[in-house]
Amino acid sequence: MPPLTRPDKPSCVTLQPRAAQLAAETGVLVVGGGPAGLGAALGAASAGANVILAERYGFLGGNATAALVMPLMSFHTQRPRVQRPDANTLLPTDHGPGKPVIAGVLTALLERLVQANGAIPPSLQTGYVVPFDPEIFKLVALQLLDEAGVRFLFHAFASDVYRDDGVTGAVFETKSGPVVIRSHVVIDCTGDADLAARAGASYEIGRHEDPLVQPMTLMFRLTEFEREAFKAYVKQHPDQWRSVHGLWDLIQQASANGELRLPREDILFFATPHQREVSVNSTRVTKVLGTDVWDLSYAEWESRRQMRQIAAFLRRYVPGFEASYIVQSGVNIGVRETRRVLGDYQLTAEDILQARKFDDVIARSSYPIDIHNPQGAGTILKRLPPGEAYDIPLRCLLPQKIDGLIVAGRSISGTHEAHSSYRVMPVSMATGQAAGVCAALAARHHRSPRDITPRAVQDELIRQGANLGDTR
Ligand SMILES: Cc1cc2nc3c(=O)[nH]c(=O)nc-3n(C[C@H](O)[C@H](O)[C@H](O)COP(=O)(O)OP(=O)(O)OC[C@H]3O[C@@H](n4cnc5c(N)ncnc54)[C@H](O)[C@@H]3O)c2cc1C
Repeated sequence: MPPLTRPDKPSCVTLQPRAAQLAAETGVLVVGGGPAGLGAALGAASAGANVILAERYGFLGGNATAALVMPLMSFHTQRPRVQRPDANTLLPTDHGPGKPVIAGVLTALLERLVQANGAIPPSLQTGYVVPFDPEIFKLVALQLLDEAGVRFLFHAFASDVYRDDGVTGAVFETKSGPVVIRSHVVIDCTGDADLAARAGASYEIGRHEDPLVQPMTLMFRLTEFEREAFKAYVKQHPDQWRSVHGLWDLIQQASANGELRLPREDILFFATPHQREVSVNSTRVTKVLGTDVWDLSYAEWESRRQMRQIAAFLRRYVPGFEASYIVQSGVNIGVRETRRVLGDYQLTAEDILQARKFDDVIARSSYPIDIHNPQGAGTILKRLPPGEAYDIPLRCLLPQKIDGLIVAGRSISGTHEAHSSYRVMPVSMATGQAAGVCAALAARHHRSPRDITPRAVQDELIRQGANLGDTR
């Protein structure tokens, strides 16, 4: 059954004014419990603030758990690369590991995940990514926030900001009716800058030349996968493996005979901590926007069609997958890109590729520019120079002309190209932690976040174990 489509001539109705329960007052209100929200809540609590975290679902993790986005991407500098003699590709050398450029709450989360057998630490063998188990992620995240004294409101969808002069809280739609939480500072970790937009912040969507954003992907986990059989097949048929994760010829054949209808050229999957499981990142829905309910409905429908095809293709043609089946798909389709708030500074591709440093650095990243084609097949990957990382300035978290609200995670201020790098989960966690610290200091001193000096934020981040590089 096809989804409801956008009305041709939308007409508006006026809603009645309504009362809301005033549920709580706090120093820092974090909205959204994804990687940025976790970082923000832990950073703020560790800096001494009273913190409430509100989340639309009944669990934490955001894309990491709801959308089954795995693994945590690398937060290490690139190793030098060499030309492979038999192919036109550059491969990393084995000369020593890259250096981690993010620490703080990310390290705390990783240690707990590994202790709980929920993740494999980054190493040469994992390609410096961190495969993790999403169910253990949910539990560990909850434990960490519990221990930090963060209070929760789950099943609460933030629909608006609450305001006096500036932003002083948020309005949530809940099963108990509308609920307001008042707060000295609100941190928007919704990934979509939902609250910043409601507060009137300026933002951009899409590329410089058009409003197209990166595609959406419904992720899923396949189990009963025979890793050794698959490895043996790849060894015998190295040509199949032309793109790093591709199964080139098999995909081409299945596409030609109509068994696969995908707007991407390869099938990308990642190992998980479980021997007989892979996480598949291969559905692709283009020209849709994650802040548009009509697009979201269509994308959920279309991506499940693709998921069924991919699972059937793997079972039918790819050794190692004969008995595999889908054990879980995302609660929602994964949304890579929506609003990018315009902040006091906008990070650019040049800043990233030149590994630029800023005096008001609050987080670092070494992850490349990584743009899944908004129109169809193909991915653009542009790496930083080996050994380098770029800084993210505090100004990227402060929406222009808005008081009382900080943005963290994938909707901070940057261009479409820059976003494709800082959007990944370790970086989102680091910008979240910095937002939490800035908000906590603002609450402590009864000031606006913009009045807190970068030096004060940096000092507290360093006390919390964050990595701010040589600048500080
Ligand atoms: C398909 C796909 C593959 C990816 N692959 C990787 C990868 O392999 N490794 C990697 O590191 N990164 C990857 N990324 C990027 C990464 O997942 C995200 O950019 C990252 O999760 C952003 O973190 P965030 O906290 O800003 O937002 P999110 O993870 O989106 O979290 C936002 C949270 O806010 C909640 N929320 C949203 N709106 C509201 C509201 N109005 N009220 C209340 N709560 C709300 C959501 O439920 C969610 O919990 C991928 C992304 C996608 C979509």
